[in-house]
Amino acid sequence: MNKQQKPNGGRGIEWTNFTWNPVQGCQHACRWEMPDGSIVPCYVEVIAKRVAQKAYPHGFEHHYWNPQKLDEPLKVVEPSKIFLDSMSDLMGDWVPDEQIEQVLDICRQATWHTFQLLTKNAPRLLEFDFPPNVWVGVSAPPSFMFGKALSLNQQKRMVKRQLDILGKLDVPVRWMSIEPLSFDIAPLLKGSPLEWAIIGAATNGKRVYQPQPTWIQNVIEVLDEQGTAIFFKGNLDWTPWREEFPEIALEL
Ligand code: SF4
Repeated sequence: MNKQQKPNGGRGIEWTNFTWNPVQGCQHACRWEMPDGSIVPCYVEVIAKRVAQKAYPHGFEHHYWNPQKLDEPLKVVEPSKIFLDSMSDLMGDWVPDEQIEQVLDICRQATWHTFQLLTKNAPRLLEFDFPPNVWVGVSAPPSFMFGKALSLNQQKRMVKRQLDILGKLDVPVRWMSIEPLSFDIAPLLKGSPLEWAIIGAATNGKRVYQPQPTWIQNVIEVLDEQGTAIFFKGNLDWTPWREEFPEIALEL
């Protein structure tokens, strides 16, 4: 596993303590259109292609199963938040059921940890039983998936479907990563089942594109009204600052 809070003060992914990647590689081919029209690939794909080619000998789209990494959470004694899985999508249609079940079995054994699962393939969430220490999350849609552009209406329909699916799950924490906040998503979040939401800006390398302030304000109002904890990614320019976790996290 990869520790996120670095000894030099770097925070890595701010909302988790470790990343854990029992599977790697992804076929979703997410791309984001920036406000200036530039198209940005998934940061994981960029890492895989530029600096971690050795870990992806058959390319980023290939599915890699890492059974040798399965027991890593069991070796960490301190209760931790663990992002599952940062270099892929465990719920991708290409990941065999047996592998997902093996991963969830480790989550069941490691009762002292909290696992933060994030997917862009929400329908597959309905096929599994998640232990209570797995927070089940969905990512806001990108501008392109599988090589095809998603119109704003398609993105909105996808958000609605994701939230409908989360509402059907019997888990203590359902969450959404809204990174980047690229349109006024607040109306879609009204009445949603979210216990937690992460909000971030769009980035292209070091360049950061802030969401429109009204989009941020609207999301905060809707989520506050329904008691959803809010966590701002470090790239968001907003005051007052929020780094909340669902109440259940306070036990960590
Ligand atoms: S699902 Fe995640 S890992 Fe896969 S391409 Fe999209 S952003 Fe990258």
